[in-house]
Amino acid sequence: MKVYINGGFVDEADAKISVFDHGLLYGDGVFEGIRLYKGCVFKLEEHLERLEMSAKAILLDLPMSRQELSDAVCEACRVNGLSDGYIRLVVTRGVGTLGLSHKNCKNPQVIIIADKIALYPKEFYTQGLRIITSPTRRINPAALPPMVKSLNYLNNIMAKADAGLAGCLEAIMLNDQGYVAECTGDNIFLRHKDRWATPPSHAGALKGITRGAVLEIMEAEGIACAETNITRYEVWTADEIFLTGTAAELIPVVEVDGRRIGSGSPGEQTLKLLDAFQDRVTRDGTML
Ligand code: PMP
Repeated sequence: MKVYINGGFVDEADAKISVFDHGLLYGDGVFEGIRLYKGCVFKLEEHLERLEMSAKAILLDLPMSRQELSDAVCEACRVNGLSDGYIRLVVTRGVGTLGLSHKNCKNPQVIIIADKIALYPKEFYTQGLRIITSPTRRINPAALPPMVKSLNYLNNIMAKADAGLAGCLEAIMLNDQGYVAECTGDNIFLRHKDRWATPPSHAGALKGITRGAVLEIMEAEGIACAETNITRYEVWTADEIFLTGTAAELIPVVEVDGRRIGSGSPGEQTLKLLDAFQDRVTRDGTML
């Protein structure tokens, strides 16, 4: 595998950054996870826009323009001979001193890894996921806005560990008011009767690109979905739940905290939305 780093492609084994990079020392940087479907990079513009906004929010000047980043992402797929895969685009703050100040870091590093995709096992799409609510809270929006996709994922990692300890693959994270924010690496949607709901970003949800694509599909199909605060009670008593994410696409949830959701099988509307989503993945893509 060839990895883009520092303006060029190098072998995987040579893809290294300094131990003084603040990305490593402090989790200081931003990233994107992007999908490649049949030679089309899904929603590349949206991902690059989110990366730019994340970088702006943390006072990080991206060293490449939108077009340069877009070209480098496509090139990383071509160089690795991929037509389907997962792209990780990372921008670290770069080398600095051992102090916290970002001002000492003059050269942000752009890293692009284009690889095959590791999905949730297939049976979870037909049988649904069991998840729990993690005791680890989503980071407070006043501390770090959830819209920033930063390299600081430690609390998500702790929540993912909570899920694993309970024998699950995902966990719901609540915000510090106790409302549902999202899952450790996925957004969440739920249905009560004919109304869908998903937490707003101010409740602690990342503005997921997949979440946005699903909201677009819902709007086009005339399906009402509110961005609103959601309690655990509303989760436990939902008729349908699914999660969205770049890697997961739409994945049904059939049990939360030991409570069966709906009939205990993936919801009918969830499966229809998954179909509609899969229809779009090449249509809304940037061709290599
Ligand atoms: N929330 C978090 C915390 C994430 O890391 C991600 C991305 N894996 C998502 C939601 C889903 O966002 P997207 O649809 O852009 O992948």
